Amino acid sequence: MNKSIHIIGAGLAGLSCAINLLKTKYRKITIYEASSLFGGRCRSYKEKGFNCQLDNGNHLVIKAYKNTFKYLKKINAHNELISNRKTFYPFVDVKKSETWKVKPYSFILPWWIFLRSCRPPNISTLHFIKSFKLFLAKKNQTVSDLLKKDGDIYERFWKPFTIAVLNTHPSEASAKLLCKVIIKILFFSYNPLQPFVVKKSLNDSFIMPAIKKILDQGGNIKSNARLKKIIFKNNFAEQMIFNKNIINIDKDELIVLAVTPNIASKILPNLKSPAKTNCIINIHFKLNQKYKEIKLPDGSFFIGVIGGIVDWIFKKRNILSITISAANNLNNLDNEKISKIVWEDVKKIFNLNTIKKPKYKIIREKMATFVQSPEEILRKPKMHTKYKNVFLAGDWIDTGLPATIEGAITSGYNVANYINKS
Ligand SMILES: Cc1cc2nc3c(=O)[nH]c(=O)nc-3n(C[C@H](O)[C@H](O)[C@H](O)COP(=O)(O)OP(=O)(O)OC[C@H]3O[C@@H](n4cnc5c(N)ncnc54)[C@H](O)[C@@H]3O)c2cc1C
Repeated sequence: MNKSIHIIGAGLAGLSCAINLLKTKYRKITIYEASSLFGGRCRSYKEKGFNCQLDNGNHLVIKAYKNTFKYLKKINAHNELISNRKTFYPFVDVKKSETWKVKPYSFILPWWIFLRSCRPPNISTLHFIKSFKLFLAKKNQTVSDLLKKDGDIYERFWKPFTIAVLNTHPSEASAKLLCKVIIKILFFSYNPLQPFVVKKSLNDSFIMPAIKKILDQGGNIKSNARLKKIIFKNNFAEQMIFNKNIINIDKDELIVLAVTPNIASKILPNLKSPAKTNCIINIHFKLNQKYKEIKLPDGSFFIGVIGGIVDWIFKKRNILSITISAANNLNNLDNEKISKIVWEDVKKIFNLNTIKKPKYKIIREKMATFVQSPEEILRKPKMHTKYKNVFLAGDWIDTGLPATIEGAITSGYNVANYINKS
């Protein structure tokens, strides 16, 4: 008899859960996705005016994302990511017109902090050692509670690092969570911070290969299938009500809710989950011949920006993609205004002087991640719910990881592994 597993949400958590469940013969796996597109917050779509696929945001992956690389291998997409030839993070300070590279090579320990050529300028090894007070963080402390905000190490290392990892400003970000990430990275054997991005698109790397594998192995995926409600009886889910149909659930069938926390809280009464969210704004500029002079250092595919409005700039063929993280304060500006401010930064960085702003597309992800503050991370639930046949997956589940690709994929695997063992 085929035991049905119903996965709600075709984001990375739902897909990774399905991929890890596939091997077992006696299961019938169905994924239900509310949208017409798969991938959730890690998706691509065809943008008419650009005549190509655009990603909803630049997603940076690091080598320490163990489960992410396992997932990519399972879906035969491990060659769909690219990396710089060497491990380095180029930076530019817009205000001071300074450029440098951080080279966080490491083998068991982060020995790069002892080498001047690997650190940001004006920052000594001692500055890094003094920052280790972060490891004494209490549960309720933010990164800014522990680090002085006026030094170069804050502006040039801790602030961009915290925002990149937690999509939360250091004044709100949980110091404890950041330390957990650092410890995971420290004990990763070789080169944990080596950066990777997708070769073509998020869809080509993370999503379509997974969908193909699920379908090839007998799974089923439905788009435009929005779960509206679950009917419970005696701590079991017994009926799922979708926008178009109703599905009855036997006691031995399982539901994995791999949706965002706001939706999960509507479906599961009394679920405690993170509620505050942070926006990420992405602006794609379509470049033509005039912009040939836009070159990133040493053939890198990205550059970090300090002292401007922009956080990261990525270049992929003729598209310059700008990321502004933790961007709630910008989100009330209209597109024209945002593009103007951003183009001013771009002009300064690449000395474009009089060149006019090219065609652009802005993607606002208002709920890109939850705010990873001491208060909000305490609201992260475990994967088990009080309903015996309902599990939770997503980047907001308590896996010990921040809300990232690795967090989402790990949570999906955790649920699948539990089901596989039970
Ligand atoms: C712009 C941006 C940039 C990012 N950059 C990075 C980065 O550089 N590195 C990194 O590691 N992470 C990054 N992230 C975070 C990463 O994308 C997310 O952590 C991850 O994609 C979350 O996956 P998920 O499966 O948990 O959730 P989601 O992707 O949100 O998946 C949930 C799915 O459930 C569906 N759904 C919702 N309600 C229902 C319903 N009622 N019925 C059926 N389906 C439903 C949704 O449509 C969605 O497809 C970024 C995120 C954004 C938005």
